[in-house]
Order: sequence, then structure tokens, then C-alpha cells
Amino acid sequence: MNQFLFEMANIRDQDSWVHQHEPEKATAKAKDLVRMAVARVRGEGALPYNMVPVTKSALVIGGGVTGMTAALAFADQDYPVTLIEQSDMLGGNGRNIYRNWKGERFLPFINDLAARVTSHPQISVKFNSAIKDVAGSVGKFSTTFSDGQSFEHGVAVVAVGGEPYQPEGKWQFLHGVNPNVHTLLELDKKFIDQDESLKSIDQAVFMHCVGSRIPERPYCSRVCCTHAVDAAIKLKELNPEMDIFMLYRDVRTYGQRERLYQEARGKGIIFVRYDLDHLPQVSEESGRLMIRCHDPIIDADIAIQPDMLVLATAIQPRAQSAGSLSKFFKCAIDGQGFLLEAHMKLRPVDFATAGVFLAGLCHYPKSMEESIAQAKAAAARASVILAQDAVPAESVTAVVNRAKCTGCGVCTEVCAFNAVSLDDNGLSVINTAMCKGCGACVAGCRSDAVTLKNIGNEQIMAAVDAAFCD
Ligand SMILES: Cc1cc2nc3c(=O)[nH]c(=O)nc-3n(C[C@H](O)[C@H](O)[C@H](O)COP(=O)(O)OP(=O)(O)OC[C@H]3O[C@@H](n4cnc5c(N)ncnc54)[C@H](O)[C@@H]3O)c2cc1C
Repeated sequence: MNQFLFEMANIRDQDSWVHQHEPEKATAKAKDLVRMAVARVRGEGALPYNMVPVTKSALVIGGGVTGMTAALAFADQDYPVTLIEQSDMLGGNGRNIYRNWKGERFLPFINDLAARVTSHPQISVKFNSAIKDVAGSVGKFSTTFSDGQSFEHGVAVVAVGGEPYQPEGKWQFLHGVNPNVHTLLELDKKFIDQDESLKSIDQAVFMHCVGSRIPERPYCSRVCCTHAVDAAIKLKELNPEMDIFMLYRDVRTYGQRERLYQEARGKGIIFVRYDLDHLPQVSEESGRLMIRCHDPIIDADIAIQPDMLVLATAIQPRAQSAGSLSKFFKCAIDGQGFLLEAHMKLRPVDFATAGVFLAGLCHYPKSMEESIAQAKAAAARASVILAQDAVPAESVTAVVNRAKCTGCGVCTEVCAFNAVSLDDNGLSVINTAMCKGCGACVAGCRSDAVTLKNIGNEQIMAAVDAAFCD
């Protein structure tokens, strides 16, 4: 049977569950729902199964480790890939991080990844590039770049990443004012440059959760505790006599990273807890840094005069990139500006928009190994589409009654999918390959000239009439 001749009276979700304490009323409502469904299905017709031929190529947006991993996963299956990167370099944040929690250096890995990407015959990299426009839908997108060139692709992976929070206000702690206050990435740069001055530091303090887990950014940035603890261990390796204090709220060295925490404790690194009501106070006294805080274990105020203060700052989304892409690809963003999956358990890495996938820091703060795993998952999901010759498009699309159309053009303006245009006669036409059946043009039409197939006035009014007859 043609699937569009099917109508469901949803007795379970819309009736028996919600009215479980009123069985008689629920039975009456069940009869209404069945009558309404029967009235509706009577007016429905069989619809054609629209199929869109798949353009067997992929677009990857963002040339960090996530984007590069996704691009290689497509290219190694022989699918052509265009990777666009807004800067003039591949690697993203990963280039600025010294090593992972297993002690493996990031930079050689990233340089190797970038070399594989740029030399791969199936990958074309566009540097200093941004997206200007996106048209089409799953299987057949057409994306225009800032240089005016366009690229046809069947799927897209969004990997625009995130960025470190720049400390400000009460979270600034003299960063940018006192030269001995650094962020974790600034300390990592010293590790990467093998800065000899680190060896002569006698005392260092790390401050965790700078700008994280506060009302503006209520989430945990997940990688900073491990990053800070590992950096403290690295300082101890450079100078075992160094005194190191970690001012923390909760240590989240999750999974096997807990071993690093144990190692840090074993090396004599001292952990002092603070809370939001008692933020450590950072000042300059006689030209030196002074940190005052309360140690709840010994229940005493303590003062430290470190040679260096390191701030473990939050990771935040790239709001501008995420915002513009969410408009181009009609995908959702959360209150913080991170991109949202269609369903975190049932459809991870999928956007609600078919054919578009996400991975990496643009989704949520995560470690490089988790970003890589997610990039591979996104490419694998997208490859399911690329492996097909055609994919189903929406069958419940808008239809125009040309006798009623006045050519006012409102439908073209309200359509979020660029599926409606005016023809040479100035009358509305629907591109059924692009129409998503959302009904915006139906609601916008002043002449009642646009309807949705199988969801027309007749079906709706028949269901309403059935609801009110006994
Ligand atoms: C401060 C900080 C500390 C971290 N510490 C650790 C750690 O200790 N251990 C660990 O494992 N992981 C750490 N991470 C996470 C790790 O860096 C990432 O998981 C990994 O690098 C993958 O990032 P990504 O590729 O998703 O995003 P990014 O590295 O942010 O890359 C995104 C890329 O997309 C580009 N881009 C952005 N917008 C656009 C656009 N509109 N069009 C085109 N290109 C665009 C950017 O220029 C960038 O090159 C840290 C991250 C940060 C920010």
C-alpha cells in the first residue's frame, strides 16, 4: 500500500498515557481520534515517492583535527571532498596544545594529518574561505563560497570548532596586566618553544574553572582539569623542586585520566578547593603576584606569592560561525551557541536537517580523541547516503492552484528552503525536490492558492467535523 494512504490514530501517546486516571473520558477521546483519522484518510490520495539523485561528494566545514579527520574518512573511500577553512592554516586549536594526557605530542600528529589532507587526490582545501549561501537538500546541496565559486555535494559535515574563553571581569585575575599570569594555552606555547625560563620557577599556581560552570557558561569544559594537571606534572618534570598549587572547584579528570591526578598528588602537588562564594583574590604586592584564598581542609586563609599563575579557561563555541551555519543548513543551536544533534541518544552526530552532520568542539567541549571518534562517526553516517544512487525526498510537498495565484510573492519570501519561485508568468511554482512540506507558504498565501498534498482544507475540516459529531 502506498504509505501516504496511511493515517494513525495515536491512542497510546495522545490518549491512554496522558489520561490514564480517567478511563471513561479516555475511551470517549479514543473514539474521537479514530473517527477523525478515518475522516482524514478518506480524502487522502496516493503520493509519488520523490527520489533525488545523490551527488557523490562531501563538503567539510572547518579544518581543525575534526574536519581533517572527516575529510580523510570520505576521501579514503574515494569520495571527492571540499574542505573549507576560514584561516590560512589547518589544525585549529590542536596546534596550540602541547600534549595529550597520555604524553603524546599534538603538533607532529597534526602536521602529519594536514600533510595527508593537502596531498590527498580526492581532497580540495579552500583556505581563507567562508560559506556565502547554501541551496538544495540531502543528496543535492549547492554551496557558494566567499570567492563566488560553488560546489555541488550530497552531504556536509560541520566542524567549525570552539575557542578558549578570554578571561575578563572578575575572571581576569590580572591576565593581560601582570606578565606572569597565563592561560593554559599560553603555558603550552612555552612548553612547545622549550622555554628555559620555566625551569627557574619556584612556585606556580593553577586556577581551574575560569569562566566555566557559572550562569553565563553553566557547562563543564571537560578537558581543562586534565590539561591543567598534566601541565603541572610537566612543570614538576622540568623542576622537581617547584611548589605547585591547584585551586579547583571539582577535579574532573574523568576515566583513566584519574591516574594523572593520582600522579600529581604523588609528586606533592597541593590541591586547594574554592567555591563561587569565595573566589581566590589575585593582586600585586610589591611587584609580585599575591593570591589569597581559603583552604577548607585546614579551615584557614592562605596566601601564596607565586612566580606564575595559570588560568584554565573555559571552551566556548564560535558563536558567529555556528550562528551563520545554523541558518544556512537550518540546524539548531543551544542556549550557549553549541550546535545541537537531532537526538543525543537516537541520532548522535546527525542534524535534524537530513544530509548534514556535526562533530568536534562545535558540538560541545571534548578531548581530541573524542573529536576524532565523532568525526569518524559523522563521516560514516554521511557515507550511508553517499553509497546510495538516490535518496527519498519529501513527498508531502506544497502545490499551487495557478487559477487562484495572484503572484504576490509572499510564498517566495516565507519559504526557508528556497523552494518557491515565480515563473515567467509571475505565478508561484514549487521545486518539489527542495520543498520540505513545512506549510509556511500555505499559511502565508493570501489567496488560498497554496495547499499541502494530503493536508488540505478538506482533510483538516473533515477531521474537525468528525471531532464534533457523536
Ligand atoms: C583551550 C583549549 C584547550 C584544550 N585542551 C585539550 C587537551 O588538553 N587535550 C585534548 O585532548 N583536547 C583539548 N582541547 C580540545 C581539542 O583541541 C579538540 O578536541 C580538537 O582539537 C578538535 O577540535 P575541532 O577540530 O573540533 O575544532 P577547532 O580546533 O576549533 O577547529 C575548527 C576549525 O574550523 C575553522 N572554522 C571555524 N569557523 C569556520 C567557518 N565558518 N568556515 C570555515 N572554517 C571555520 C577554524 O578556523 C578552525 O581551524 C582543547 C581545546 C581548547 C579550545
